Amino acid sequence: MRIILLGPPGGGKGTQGDFLVKRTGFPRISTGDLLRQAVQEGTALGREAEAAMKQGGLVRDEIVLDLVRERISRPDCRGGYVLDGYPRTLSQAKDVEALDPDRPEIVVAIDVSAEEIVRRLASRRSCPDCGAVFNLIVRKPAREGVCDACRGTLAGREDDRPEIVRERLRVYAEKTEPLLAYYAKKGTLHRVDGEKGMDATAAAIREILDAALGAGRTGARG
Ligand code: AMP
Repeated sequence: MRIILLGPPGGGKGTQGDFLVKRTGFPRISTGDLLRQAVQEGTALGREAEAAMKQGGLVRDEIVLDLVRERISRPDCRGGYVLDGYPRTLSQAKDVEALDPDRPEIVVAIDVSAEEIVRRLASRRSCPDCGAVFNLIVRKPAREGVCDACRGTLAGREDDRPEIVRERLRVYAEKTEPLLAYYAKKGTLHRVDGEKGMDATAAAIREILDAALGAGRTGARG
């Protein structure tokens, strides 16, 4: 099974992806995380990606495809995987189908308004050391400014600055939103309201998943 999480930046794909990991045992593959790691490591690929990321634009399809190809070829993806932040363009959607054509697919689109996104991203903090994500309103760390998981020092992401967020939302509307129609036509799209709170959104996604996979299969993991 390939589970694709679609939705605007800051819409909760990472958080819901983590719930899905617990539920299914599949790994979550975030292209944003893979790219940030490449940037941090200073690889050639990371250096090329960095400029686009800083400006809130998209990294070239070929670069992201290489990362995804390598990641899904690993043994932990054999049973399935959760894609978070990929695909983001129609050509990426076709790339992932070509890469792994026989895998059944569910697409979960998390609907969140632009207003709510701006509000959420302004209060998002993440750990540069382990990648854990917090929110000063709904998911506070136990100690202010300190990562619960690894004790790293939390920081706002550079691309969560309001002017960059506006650009990311513009790019989302232009390049990624057309995927909704694409997957609706393909018959794999499910939409959930992402403004009802983390738990309600998780419950809605769980229902979709249970219907698609059969309750017995996912029920074992809580
Ligand atoms: P995210 O953490 O998913 O918000 O991604 C952060 C940034 O990484 C995005 O604003 C893009 O610059 C880049 N990025 C992540 N995923 C992709 C993708 N599938 N295609 C192109 N660029 C991406």
